[in-house]
Amino acid sequence: MAVIMDGNELRDEIVVSLRERIEAMGSPAVCLATVLVGGDRPSQVYVRNKHKKAGEAGMASRHVELPATASQAEVEAAVAELAADPDVHGILVQLPLPDGLDAEAVIDLIPPAKDVDGLTERSMGRLVRGRDGLVPCTPVGVIRFLERYGVPTSGRRAVVVGRSTLVGLPLSLLLARKGVDATVTLAHSRTADLVAVCREADILVGAAGQARMITADHVKPGAAVIDVGISRTEAGLVGDVDFGPVSEVAGWITPMPGGTGPMTIASLLENTLVAARLQGALPE
Ligand code: NDP
Repeated sequence: MAVIMDGNELRDEIVVSLRERIEAMGSPAVCLATVLVGGDRPSQVYVRNKHKKAGEAGMASRHVELPATASQAEVEAAVAELAADPDVHGILVQLPLPDGLDAEAVIDLIPPAKDVDGLTERSMGRLVRGRDGLVPCTPVGVIRFLERYGVPTSGRRAVVVGRSTLVGLPLSLLLARKGVDATVTLAHSRTADLVAVCREADILVGAAGQARMITADHVKPGAAVIDVGISRTEAGLVGDVDFGPVSEVAGWITPMPGGTGPMTIASLLENTLVAARLQGALPE
């Protein structure tokens, strides 16, 4: 049986260490702001969890909620106000936005130093160029799992299934970075013979949003399998990985729920502290 990589436990470790770091600095005010447009229930739950964990980490948080009927100008005005507020260090716009709103134009309003989701062009450019900056939260969470559970990465083969700018693409860059040193394949819906490609992987990440698409056949014995996907099915929330059979083949595996979801929140809070430092809000 695979080692279970416990996202709740690792998130809580990170939250405690952030709290200790903030207290050791004399508890400077560090504030995360979230923007939610529309009353989508799962998004509300995600956002509520982010605020709860921010509080546990010793951070303040602020929430702006707009109705699903909000215009592009109203959403942009809300983000612009947070961008200009010196008491706000991190801004997270909960995606996706309701149909008809242009997320790119909204993201463009987030100053790079407050971009705790790592989504702006500047943040992405820094990641590509290997410079320090704010990196998307879910990919950072995946790297934290590998570090914490001692999964070897140097010279190993990593396959990431899904190439979005939110998850798959930045994760493939992080895995290929000097110091992590994996040899990375970025697979997607046009990848031929996906089973064979996945079976090459020492580290296999499912980030396609296709319920249980990664079966035991896709997995090399002993591989680390990380499930990012979330699909809403009649049976509830389901990951990209067929957990039961895969856990009998893999060396390490993340559960769903309780895997990458909590770690995304932990990385968001880590990023918020980095953002506060970038804005000179922390003592040297
Ligand atoms: P997108 O829909 O933007 O991207 C999905 C990617 O998967 C695309 O690159 C697509 O390929 C690829 N894909 C789709 N179907 C297949 C298939 N059958 N075989 C191979 N590749 C396929 O999604 P996101 O990246 O935003 O999110 C991915 C999943 O992760 C979603 O389920 C989302 O809910 C979840 N998620 C989870 C988070 C967490 O905290 N755990 C955080 C963020 C997202 P192509 O480009 O060719 O279309």
